[in-house]
Amino acid sequence: MIVRVIVGLVLTVVAFAVAGRRLWWLQRLALSGQPAPERIEYARTHAATDLKTQLTEVIGQRKLLKWSVPGAAHAATFWGFLVLMLTILEAYGALFSRTFAIPVIGHWAVVGFIEDLFATGVLAGISTFTVIRLRNDPHKKGRASRFQGSHTRAAWVVLWMIGAVIVTLLVYRGAQQNTGVFPYPDGWAFASWVVARVLRPLGYGVNSVLEAVFILLQLGVVLAFLVIVSYSKHLHIGLAPLNVLFSRRPNGLGPLQLMRSNGKVLDFEEADPDTDTFGIGKVEDLTWKGFLDLGTCTECGRCQSQCPAWATGKPLSPKQVILDLRDHAFAKAPYLLATEDQRVTLAPDILELAQRPLVGTAEENGVIDPDVIWSCTNCGACVEECPVDIEHIDHINGMRRHQVLVESAFPAEATTMLNNLERRGNPWGSPADKRLEWTTELDFEVPVLDETIPEDTEYLFWVGCAGALEDRAKKTTKAVAELLHAAGVKFAVLGPRETCTGDPARRLGNEFVYTMLAQQNIETLNEAGVGKGSGKKVIASCAHCFNTIGREYPQLGGDYEVVHHTELLAKLVEDGKISPVNEADQKVTYHDPCFLGRHNKVFAPPRELIGALPGTAAQEMERSGNRSFCCGAGGARMWLEERTGDRINDTRATEALGTGADVIATACPFCNVMLGDAVNAKQAAGQARPNVEVIDVAQLLVRAVKLREGAAQDAAAGA
Ligand code: SF4
Ligand code: SF4
Repeated sequence: MIVRVIVGLVLTVVAFAVAGRRLWWLQRLALSGQPAPERIEYARTHAATDLKTQLTEVIGQRKLLKWSVPGAAHAATFWGFLVLMLTILEAYGALFSRTFAIPVIGHWAVVGFIEDLFATGVLAGISTFTVIRLRNDPHKKGRASRFQGSHTRAAWVVLWMIGAVIVTLLVYRGAQQNTGVFPYPDGWAFASWVVARVLRPLGYGVNSVLEAVFILLQLGVVLAFLVIVSYSKHLHIGLAPLNVLFSRRPNGLGPLQLMRSNGKVLDFEEADPDTDTFGIGKVEDLTWKGFLDLGTCTECGRCQSQCPAWATGKPLSPKQVILDLRDHAFAKAPYLLATEDQRVTLAPDILELAQRPLVGTAEENGVIDPDVIWSCTNCGACVEECPVDIEHIDHINGMRRHQVLVESAFPAEATTMLNNLERRGNPWGSPADKRLEWTTELDFEVPVLDETIPEDTEYLFWVGCAGALEDRAKKTTKAVAELLHAAGVKFAVLGPRETCTGDPARRLGNEFVYTMLAQQNIETLNEAGVGKGSGKKVIASCAHCFNTIGREYPQLGGDYEVVHHTELLAKLVEDGKISPVNEADQKVTYHDPCFLGRHNKVFAPPRELIGALPGTAAQEMERSGNRSFCCGAGGARMWLEERTGDRINDTRATEALGTGADVIATACPFCNVMLGDAVNAKQAAGQARPNVEVIDVAQLLVRAVKLREGAAQDAAAGA
């Protein structure tokens, strides 16, 4: 007895010492990053939300369960390990007393049953993982495997370790049943009972030995697992709840974060290039929350499997970005954790590594290739999928910010767009008075605001640069205006007083130009008197304007109630103010714009509008809603060349055409252009039916309404 106590305790002390040392090292590494007081403040002041998030995301495994089979396997394993804490307690107790039973629980048969139920659940879970890993072997499936780039060997080791935890558990419990020291009545702990039946012929003596040896083996495996966890991707077992606790709310989608340096929001006028950080130029420019992201990644590859850049053959994998940053942070740790005096004594290879540019080509010995960060469309699919709430977009845009603001290194083709934004307030460089041209093509007057919005006008229609200046988007603008007019909704526009919201600049990484444009627009909107509480609302027909004005301007003091045109139109249809009644005999598939759908969760209104069109059959694409596939325009990609792999818009158009739809409807001018171009190219190549069209939901609606009005006129003429 004394031997097993000593062995058990020695193993425990050694394992806790090794794992504890590693965790201490990890927290020091994380704290070598930038401060992030806003994360602590938010978590501190939102305890109720925090608790709910922990219950749904961590305990409830909400995101994991979206992937039914692997989600169920993970949930079974996770919940199993929570319950099996009891068996670990029992194993420790049995070190000291063979007849140990947990106080309070005692010999309650139900607990024995639950323990075995969850133990078999874990076995089922890891068996499923084994099949999943074999079927997704990256050596065979290459880029199509979500495990491509993951440390698969470590994953196999952990699967075997978990298997060993359960096997040793069942063997010692079976032996305990045969020696009469099992804490629960025979039979209830059904899996242990089966093992006991197998071991019983070996007799009392052998079972006594098996009992002692397998209790120690069980503890040994659990403790070895603890050490392996602290050195592997399975760190997420401990870090995931923390990462979820300090993640952005409601999620890492929607707005980008303001630039911060040393924990404070960066003021461009007062920033000091010597002491302030501008984006992420070195791994230590990440905040501790950024480091926590790196340590929490489970390498599951869900993000990678949903990334449009990865799916179309680009060098970007959101998982690989996180893993590359993590590997670099770990390799650079001796430098990061050393004092200035200690650094000069470090080995030359560490010093060389410390000088590696974070973003740079292979020739420059960069950690992350520039093409990786410029391939991102900011679509948010990675953030949406990540089960541990890692904020990939923030990291990628942090690196873009540094490249643009400090290195002046960004794709050359974006230069014109940025210059146009600075000089003319729109990406095309059009003169401001062109912003009202579309109004001349309507047969009613559109009020243009000189000053404050009139008392009787509820809506300010934010037309957006594309909506005012791009031919296809102008049709949407006119359709929205006609529908509002027909419904008797009073609205006004800003005309030449509007400038670009700054979204393309911000997503490209040029926070300076974004801030300049945003502040100008906020001033204009405030002068127009449409701030929150005024009873006025802003209508946006562009998903990017919708996200920027509604979700990003509040960071700069501009608070407005912003509605997307599909939300307002759906309400007008519901209220009977617009009645699309004519049969159209068409099949429509709807493409969710990322910045309307995934980033802002507006999924239903555009579908309600399509559903209200008589004679129209709606057909969802395979990837829709939260899992929609990007058109390729976001993240300022609209203004960049796409030189590698397949074209994202072409891939999406192929999927849309595959539904057999006559109309590909969308609700964002950028999607309209990207998908329209792809369909046009396919039609020219004879790969798509000539009558397929790409249009905004508002255009579909206005047709139906106009058809109805026409029918009414015909009827009147007939009478
Ligand atoms: S935001 Fe979209 S494009 Fe960018 S890494 Fe994530 S999934 Fe890929
Ligand atoms: S970032 Fe998230 S989704 Fe991607 S591999 Fe890591 S844990 Fe999985």
